[in-house]
Amino acid sequence: MQIPARPKLSLAEIVAEHKAMAEAAANAREALAARGGPLSGLYRARAEKMRRCGKRLTIREFEAEDGTIRQVPSLVYNCRQRECPLSQFTIRGKNRRKATTLFNATFERHPDKRIIFATFTMPNVDGVDLGDAINVLNRGWTRMTRTAAWRRSIEGYLQCIEVTYSPERNDYHAHRHAVLVVDHSYFTRGDSKYIPQAKLAAMWTSAMQSPVPLIVDVRVPKARPGETMLDAAIRQVVKYVFKSGEFYERTATGYRADPDVLEAMYVGLAGRRMFGFGGIVRQTAQALKLELAFDEAEDVAADGTPDWLIDADVDLDGPGDILCPEPRSAYALCFEPGSLFSRPAYVYAGEGA
Ligand SMILES: [Zn+2]
Repeated sequence: MQIPARPKLSLAEIVAEHKAMAEAAANAREALAARGGPLSGLYRARAEKMRRCGKRLTIREFEAEDGTIRQVPSLVYNCRQRECPLSQFTIRGKNRRKATTLFNATFERHPDKRIIFATFTMPNVDGVDLGDAINVLNRGWTRMTRTAAWRRSIEGYLQCIEVTYSPERNDYHAHRHAVLVVDHSYFTRGDSKYIPQAKLAAMWTSAMQSPVPLIVDVRVPKARPGETMLDAAIRQVVKYVFKSGEFYERTATGYRADPDVLEAMYVGLAGRRMFGFGGIVRQTAQALKLELAFDEAEDVAADGTPDWLIDADVDLDGPGDILCPEPRSAYALCFEPGSLFSRPAYVYAGEGA
């Protein structure tokens, strides 16, 4: 029996769904604030910001070079919090465009290089240990990238930490995805630069100083139709720091988030850097004065821009710099409390607001 395909959601519906999850996160924050404690005021403030986030936004439609229509949402106010699904959604698009520009520039300078996609794992931890786990993950990475074996074979990288949550076990899995740049000769049989998966896992285990063997997964990135391998790798590395689906439970009226889980994520990730570049990728950025920093949550973004002035543009359909100056059309959405799930309170078409 054929399972009917899920109907493709419109951008407005996708945004509405993210907004509904943000509302659930705000409710969870308020539940945390109500418990009292030293972070109570902070949680209340963050809930308030999240409720304002993306409450009004504009969706502009552009005609791409191939004639397809691209939609780009732009939030009037983006709260830029890691636990905000709407902000994560918009920031991810921006980071993907940045990473693509950076890698394209790298390959222009070094056309003989190739990429590998690898995931470096560690054992699951309880919520209270998440922050320590991220520190361990960062120290392990630094140690590994300084070894002679690594430096001989891996010429550059982009890496990103992702945290997944298991509701069944109530624990957290922090791991690192990386696009690794290697020489084209890397794959030649018998080349001394080639690192077999087992050896890479051993290098990772030793760098992490782990008593148990750790798993490293290496693969060729799977491209979707119309994507290059690089697009696919970047899509898999530059994504949500944590997957919304695992943190938000669908209810009849919207979503619900567990305050304890959000608290563990907030405390565990606060002030910790989740992205990094190295080797020729970093050198290219420096040589071309490309901006290296990725957009992160407010805890680490320190450019001094007041957050209510920041507009986030997203390219939903993939990487590449897509913005042509004149949109074909634009419409504004406004979300009102109580009408969040599945459709915005009202939609009007008109000139770009
Ligand atoms: Zn937000």
